[in-house]
Amino acid sequence: MKHKLLIILLIIIFSSLALYAKEYAVSYLNSTRKDHLPIHKIDGKNYVNIYDIERTFDGSIEVDQITQTVELKIFDQLMTFSFFNNWVHFGKTSYNLHNDIEIIDGFFYVPEYFINLCANKFFPDAVILDNGSIIVHFASMEKYLIKTIVLDPGHGGKDSGAVGRHFGTYEKDIVLKITKKVKALLEQNLDVKVLLTRSDDRFVSLGDRTEFANEQHADIFVSIHCNAAYNTKANGSEVYYLSTAQTHEARAVEAMENEVIKFEDPESIKRYKDLDFILYDMRQTEYLNESSELSDMCQKELTRNLGTKDNGVRQANFYVLRGAFMPAILVEVAYLSNKNEEKKLRTDDFQNRAAKAIYVSLKQFKEKYDKMN
Ligand SMILES: [Zn+2]
Repeated sequence: MKHKLLIILLIIIFSSLALYAKEYAVSYLNSTRKDHLPIHKIDGKNYVNIYDIERTFDGSIEVDQITQTVELKIFDQLMTFSFFNNWVHFGKTSYNLHNDIEIIDGFFYVPEYFINLCANKFFPDAVILDNGSIIVHFASMEKYLIKTIVLDPGHGGKDSGAVGRHFGTYEKDIVLKITKKVKALLEQNLDVKVLLTRSDDRFVSLGDRTEFANEQHADIFVSIHCNAAYNTKANGSEVYYLSTAQTHEARAVEAMENEVIKFEDPESIKRYKDLDFILYDMRQTEYLNESSELSDMCQKELTRNLGTKDNGVRQANFYVLRGAFMPAILVEVAYLSNKNEEKKLRTDDFQNRAAKAIYVSLKQFKEKYDKMN
């Protein structure tokens, strides 16, 4: 009986959590960066998840289970919350949050009033509240530079991706090689941190790829693939960014790259179709201009360096791009289904040139956006 009650209680808590009361749109002064800070209703009161605050303000969190406190550091200032208590300690002063800190499912929720305190008391120069939206102003320009790039070699493990018909080449092997070459070029020549969603032959779900990029606060996400088509004559290079697929061909590629979800468990498949992903989708649309620009740069460099047919920049609705909160593109280097291109894709020289093309476009994009700030 007790268990039943607990389950009912949990359901009520979760369903009330799922209903976003509203959210703050977050923008950053002198930057293309954008974010959202959701507001959660708990017992009818407005709360914000402390991890959303951490992300929004590029902060850090330390939880101490022994003293039952949470330390949040934002704008280089430390503040302390106590579990199930309505005070925040900032400097030598304590401020009343009017409602207790809540802990649900391991997440800490602080009363929305904390945002008002940040804007009005703690960081009036850095946090500006404007009609339900937040404008963040980091004093250090460091925050605006493109510093972290996540490269995503498509497929892996049980998912081989496209398979070449003439030499039995696996897409997962070729794209991993190209990706590692891009990483080496970026690290040798640019002051950036480069992270891979996989660096060996393993299966990584589509959701985990972008989740990783989000967790690492990546500034750019690049998914690298080889194309395939029923028509063995099809050839050339294409770069995609997110949208609902525009053309018949784009829809075919979209169907192929999204097919990987058949390897994933039913739970995660359900997740892609959930409202959550629609929200993610909306977030990604905020980066459409930047993604489209990076696509143009990459497409130009690919065809120039590889001498491949220019199939143009395209838009498609790839699951792997949908969860990324940053400019994100998907590169189809060339066609594994085309005998001539499969042969080329296997060579070190062609892989080097593909890597160089992707690297040069990232360099151009970084130089442009770093200078703007
Ligand atoms: Zn692929």
